[in-house]
Amino acid sequence: MPLKRYVIVLLAMVLASAWTAPQAQPLEVVATTPSLGMLARAVGGDQVRVRVLAPDDRDPHYLDARPSYMAAVRRADLLLEMGAGLEEGWLPAVLSGAANPAVNEGRRGHFRASDTLSLRRSVTMDGPNVGHVHAEGNPHFNIDPLRMAVLADALAKRMGQLRTEKADYFLARSEDAAQRLRQHARALADRIPADRQFVAYHEDLDYLEEWLPVKVLGYLEPVPGVPPTARHLRRLVRDLEGREGRVLHARYQPSRGAGFLQRHLGWDIHAVSLEPPVDADLEGYLELMSQWAAVFGGG
Ligand SMILES: [Zn+2]
Repeated sequence: MPLKRYVIVLLAMVLASAWTAPQAQPLEVVATTPSLGMLARAVGGDQVRVRVLAPDDRDPHYLDARPSYMAAVRRADLLLEMGAGLEEGWLPAVLSGAANPAVNEGRRGHFRASDTLSLRRSVTMDGPNVGHVHAEGNPHFNIDPLRMAVLADALAKRMGQLRTEKADYFLARSEDAAQRLRQHARALADRIPADRQFVAYHEDLDYLEEWLPVKVLGYLEPVPGVPPTARHLRRLVRDLEGREGRVLHARYQPSRGAGFLQRHLGWDIHAVSLEPPVDADLEGYLELMSQWAAVFGGG
């Protein structure tokens, strides 16, 4: 090829790649929780940049609408939230402060995980305490790998709408992630002796029942969102006298109520993480699943 023509071809190639560069930009994803951030990385691979808002050691019900959260959401192409009221105390203020219409509720850039799943009921939906923190169903499905697998597929489809040329890439990755989540859940369930029972601090460990042979017997909180009372703890001890079990609570929850059950029932206390590290990928979540199973003698 003559030099001049070669230069022209080269120049055309450079211009063409510059022209398509905006399409190749990774999706800017903001996830409210570390589990959702993990899922975004698992599905999005090198086509996403993920920022997680809630730290892994804080209760996601109770966060502040910090200016740094607003700044992150302002730049986002896609916002992922758990939904079902989990973030209702702070996310609306973050969204309004961010002033980014692309990620407002109802837009393609806003992904509400709870909309794509069937949720477990909450005790708050049946009793006289209707309307408390879990009125839309139990929003703590991040500890259920089977629901995370369903979410992976829904998330891949949404990412594919925002980056059509990468739709197949997202779908392939979500199928792989879903398969690994389901396989690991089955393997861990097989290792746990049947009928392990536990009391949790909050309704945030109920979804363990969905994939492990375990059963939640009660909660240290009298109602979700209300701290344990002496009266409620005494009644729990009375009801559970003579039974085998464990007390589980998130690391950020106080252990005082758990200590009361330990003294009166002789049960072991396990402080667990409910979220993987903020920068976790799928492996980090699988490791966390193993930690949950280990509490019951599996893992
Ligand atoms: Zn809750």
